Amino acid sequence: MYPSTSPSIRRSFTDLGIRASFLLGFGVMVILMLMVSSAAFFITASTVRSTSEILNHRLPDTLGVLRAAQAFDALAGTGGPLISVMTETARITAFERVEHAQQLFDQTLLDLQPISDASVAGDVDNIISLGAELTDNLDQLQALANQRVTLIQAKETASDSLISILQLFQQLLTYRMRILESDTDVIALMMSLPSPPLERVGDMARETAPMMPLARFHAEIEAIGSRQLAGAQDATLTALSLSRQIISTALINATTTLDKLPPELVTALEQPFAQLHSMAHSPEGLLGLREQELTLLMQSEALELANQQITARVNDATSVLVSRELNEIAQAGEAATLLQLRYQWALVLLTAVAVFGIAVFLYRHVWQYLIARMTLLSSNMQQIAAGNFDITLAAEGDDELGRLGAAVRQFRTIALDAGRREAELQSSHKMAEEALAAVEIKALELEVLNAKLAELSTSDFLTGLANRRRFDEVFATEWARSTRNGSALAIIMLDVDHFKLFNDRYGHQAGDNCLRKLAEVLKQHVGRATDLAARYGGEEFCIISTDADLSGVLVLAERIRANIQAIAIKHEDSSVGVVTVSIGVASMVPSLNHESAELLLAADHALYRAKASGRNCVKSA
Ligand code: GH3
Ligand code: MG
Ligand code: MG
Repeated sequence: MYPSTSPSIRRSFTDLGIRASFLLGFGVMVILMLMVSSAAFFITASTVRSTSEILNHRLPDTLGVLRAAQAFDALAGTGGPLISVMTETARITAFERVEHAQQLFDQTLLDLQPISDASVAGDVDNIISLGAELTDNLDQLQALANQRVTLIQAKETASDSLISILQLFQQLLTYRMRILESDTDVIALMMSLPSPPLERVGDMARETAPMMPLARFHAEIEAIGSRQLAGAQDATLTALSLSRQIISTALINATTTLDKLPPELVTALEQPFAQLHSMAHSPEGLLGLREQELTLLMQSEALELANQQITARVNDATSVLVSRELNEIAQAGEAATLLQLRYQWALVLLTAVAVFGIAVFLYRHVWQYLIARMTLLSSNMQQIAAGNFDITLAAEGDDELGRLGAAVRQFRTIALDAGRREAELQSSHKMAEEALAAVEIKALELEVLNAKLAELSTSDFLTGLANRRRFDEVFATEWARSTRNGSALAIIMLDVDHFKLFNDRYGHQAGDNCLRKLAEVLKQHVGRATDLAARYGGEEFCIISTDADLSGVLVLAERIRANIQAIAIKHEDSSVGVVTVSIGVASMVPSLNHESAELLLAADHALYRAKASGRNCVKSA
């Protein structure tokens, strides 16, 4: 019986045979496994590809832009120190910083190339163009810094010149100022007296009066000098303009005052005053230089502001780029994760399908188709072996199991044949056994017959006593036994008296009947198994008695004689009137020195003597 598979599958498997169908099954399994492996490889490859896209391109690009923005920041940061450069050393240091930062920035831009992403490339182009602008501004700042260092040096020179002129004024005016001051002090002292010497005071006042503008001139010069020195530090052009106005006023006042000074002093003061005047108004003067410096500073600050704006633009663009890229990377990561998840599910599904396919193949082909058939074949074999031939046999087919099925059929036919033969054999065996039993019964019957025959051959057919042959055998045996044992053996010999006469008067038949009756008497008296009564011949009988001494045997003999007489068989020709017997008894312990015949002869002699003594008596040897 086939399992309940669909006929097409069953047929195809059957047609293929077990080996080919297994090869087909394994082939399908291998293909399924290859499919699962390929799917796993594809999933790994695609995950790695999407991850490597992020790791190898997006992240490096974004990080490169970030690094470029950082380098940009650092480069822009070198602008500040350029503005505050005061000395040559500071200028060199600041310039070196700019150069170093510029190199780093250029390097980061070089490292960025090539950028695959168009949007990132746009940002990088933006950074590059802004970087060019920054570099331009820094160049300008450096130029301004150079000018500033020159200006500062010029300011120092101008300051030195101013100070030397002021010192000159100091030399020219100081001692005169001291005299004036001391005169004034004297006048004040004199005026403080209780009675001031007014005349003296008047004289002294007249003498000092021409020198009085000197103090004002000195004050104006000091104001001009100090204001120029202070104005050289003015923070704004407005303050500087105010300083200029103050200095102009002071110069006008000083000029006016100068005219009032004594002529010899004016001659001495004219030259330095002209220098001081030109210094205050000249562009090479401290104020002029300060004005240039402030202009430079303003230009520098404007450039620095521009730099800061550029930097802010770069930073804004970078932060937008970074957040955008990070967002895209996150999205790509999520997409990759989702894709991987889908692929994994697909892999799980494919694996499940493969496992299910293998299970279906194993179940349908191996379990249902092969094992079911093999089980049926095995059951067939067991049934046939148990002698049950009335079974549903497994179907034959082209495959190995089909051929095995054919073999089972053949086996069944052979077994059937063998069974038939065995039945026949058993029947003949039974018949033989029955025949044997019959033979055995016959043999038993034969044995009984043989026993009877043996008995017949050893007994006297008329009287039923032992015959002469039997007597001779027993006598020989007993003789030998008594010889071995050393025991006595006795013979009682009987002869019917005048039996010829009995036959003659009553007939031979009556004679036979008489002999039977005498035999019965003898049988009654011979009870022991070892003793034997036999018909010795004609109307003579003999008894063998073992282990009996003569007296005992004589008693037995006498009893027999008396009993025979007592049964009183009528015998008219006898003197007693009934049948009698004469008995001769002999007994001896046999030895190797004697012949058995001697005992018989002795008994015979004793019988003769009984006959001679008138019959119907017992005589011993
Ligand atoms: P005695 O007293 O001297 O023995 O006399 P007897 O007549 O018996 O002596 P004898 O031996 O001459 O005779 C024996 C007779 O016994 C002879 C025969 O007719 C008879 N006899 C022997 N065998 C048988 C037998 O089987 N049947 C019958 N009816 N008679 C037998
Ligand atoms: Mg006789
Ligand atoms: Mg006789």
